[in-house]
Amino acid sequence: MSRSKDIFIGTDSGATTSKTGGIWADGSTISTKLRQSSTNSQAGTAAVIQGWVEGVVGFLADNNLSWDQVRGVGLAIPGPYQSYGVLDRSANLPKSFEGWNFHADYSQALAEKAGRPIPLVVGNDGNYGGVAEAQRVRGDRKASVLMLAPGSGLGAAYIDANGLPLDGDTLAGMEGGHMPAALHLLGVRPYKCGCGKDWGCIEAYTTISGLPQLLEDMLKKHPGHELATSTAPVKEKVLSLRSRAQKGDPLALDIFDFQARALGLHVASLAMALDPEYVVIGGGLIDPESTTPEFRHRYLEGIHQAAMPYLWPAQRRKLKVVPATLGELSQAIGAALVALYSARQSRI
Ligand SMILES: [Zn+2]
Repeated sequence: MSRSKDIFIGTDSGATTSKTGGIWADGSTISTKLRQSSTNSQAGTAAVIQGWVEGVVGFLADNNLSWDQVRGVGLAIPGPYQSYGVLDRSANLPKSFEGWNFHADYSQALAEKAGRPIPLVVGNDGNYGGVAEAQRVRGDRKASVLMLAPGSGLGAAYIDANGLPLDGDTLAGMEGGHMPAALHLLGVRPYKCGCGKDWGCIEAYTTISGLPQLLEDMLKKHPGHELATSTAPVKEKVLSLRSRAQKGDPLALDIFDFQARALGLHVASLAMALDPEYVVIGGGLIDPESTTPEFRHRYLEGIHQAAMPYLWPAQRRKLKVVPATLGELSQAIGAALVALYSARQSRI
């Protein structure tokens, strides 16, 4: 079989759904159609492994590929971990998953299916998503990438010039959402954060998780707004803000301008340590299906402009703030890319 037909597979294991994607040995994507299946965690770890393997089998069949071509597999799975490849207690999984060596079990299952050992790399889903987005923006250039994805929480990843994520020594590296916000510049009180820290985590000022607190503060400036008197549940109110902003609602725009500024200051703060050329912004506020081009431009510009005064001159000239483009594909593709990069390294 010719080397050019070699492939790398990525499994993205979410709490409810698992996705499978793949790349060729040159890093290009085999298919932009993700294969999805239920993670099935309530049926136990063996069922989860079976689901991941079936995902690979289905992906190979969908794309007329065979196990002979598979040179490596990557698995993206949310932490926390006890050690590399071993889960710790997770709120989204059954208690029996604590201490599960998913690296050993998945390796064994892949070897049985392929009839030979297949190298397996595993890592944090957010970091692997960053790997794929980084490959898109930097191409074959040596450039480092900071990715921030505000959603329900703040996903954060740093991808070095070789394309690999910063994992850290307890695999909790780049938990950038739980660093303190520049409260004095933003003129806000320390909001509560789900992690329990009391220093005003940036996640609370930039994501859905902190929106109830931000809305409460912002309504003081917009006392006549219909949300000030609405009896709808808070969750419904905050989830209405994104679509209100698309129609020019002043309160909603104030809120997202604030979020952009908070995130921009955080970008500058992270740039002091990481000095990236690219900042990729993911999450629902840059989703082309839910937001207008004008809104996305305003949000990304807000981030960039807030960061600028705090950067060094060379960084001011070089730093680019760009939207993520891979959407749901990113974590499976990123996992496959890490498998590819690690195969390249082991050949050296
Ligand atoms: Zn926190």
